[in-house]
Amino acid sequence: MYKLLKTEGAARRGEFETVHGTVQTPAFMNVATAGAIKGAVSAYDLRELKCQVQLCNTYHLHLRPGDGTVKKLGGVRKFTGWDGPVLTDSGGFQVFSLAKLRRIREEGVTFASHVDGRRIFMGPEESIRIQSNLGSTIAMAFDECVENPAEYAYAKNSCARTARWLERCKAEMNRLNVLEDTLNPNQLLFGINQGCTFADLRIEHMKRIAALDCDGYAIGGLAVGEPAEEMYHIIESIEPFMPKDKIRYLMGVGTPANILEAVRRGVDLFDCVMPSRNARHGHAFTMEGCRNLLNAKYELDEAPLEEGCSCPACQKFSRAYIHHLFKAGEMLAMRLTVMHNLFFYNNLLEKIRKSLDEGAFEGFYKENVEKLSRRI
Ligand SMILES: [Zn+2]
Repeated sequence: MYKLLKTEGAARRGEFETVHGTVQTPAFMNVATAGAIKGAVSAYDLRELKCQVQLCNTYHLHLRPGDGTVKKLGGVRKFTGWDGPVLTDSGGFQVFSLAKLRRIREEGVTFASHVDGRRIFMGPEESIRIQSNLGSTIAMAFDECVENPAEYAYAKNSCARTARWLERCKAEMNRLNVLEDTLNPNQLLFGINQGCTFADLRIEHMKRIAALDCDGYAIGGLAVGEPAEEMYHIIESIEPFMPKDKIRYLMGVGTPANILEAVRRGVDLFDCVMPSRNARHGHAFTMEGCRNLLNAKYELDEAPLEEGCSCPACQKFSRAYIHHLFKAGEMLAMRLTVMHNLFFYNNLLEKIRKSLDEGAFEGFYKENVEKLSRRI
């Protein structure tokens, strides 16, 4: 359960206790889409990277290898070799972004698998049953991710349906959590706030789902192409209506500066594919800004990716070596850079927590927010 330890302005320092371990917040969750971090990084590497929570994608694991298979193998934690907390998303985001030929009804969504085209139906009950089979620590409610920009009337109807879907998710989880063969009978459920970029819809929806007493609350449907200022405005609008005694998760966000801005507006939990995706394209994050390792200026640069970084890549390897690995198309280039970037994100959140502990968050924010967005 969430324990608020300290606040500075709207920023919160807290602890989130689960049956699989306690998470110090604010925290960044590391995305292992199909049970692995893209870039050949395993759950064993994550331990060295200050990772606290691994995130796995329900949609991907449902298609391959199948949640029934993962359950037979002891659940997603045993299967991937990660013994800390795991959050599974609901599959909603992928159903609405990856799958083809979808049809939305009150019961749920029928769609064609992006792997083999087979028709699949997923509604709130199916999503929760799959997540229960995966045995994650935290399950996410099944919601509709509306395209941005959206028509007001469509967004309003969609929000109402997503709220009804949350009630069904909750009922299904309550049913599953008392069954004898349920892998994690203590599985937690987070509700997701929607409403596109309409502040009134967001607030109305937040009030409605807050009344359902979920274990945590997420803000979904942001960072989908709207300007960052609009995203910050939406967070500020709904924050007063988010329960103070529950953990708050901003889904799919974002750059290091986005995270700093969102912590300052009262968010506790984050996830994003950016550290691993950018690393695979040769981009390394540092406190001074983002470095493009493909740049010719690194050819003879013997310094590590970031001076003073204690990640496994910076301990032993130079910019020049990693620059060469990218040029030569070696897999190791990606692995080392992904490890550095994940460590950077987890370490940044540790620095944020430390500044909150010391009542120095505002100073930390002012000193770093501009630098973090630079290209160096
Ligand atoms: Zn490093």
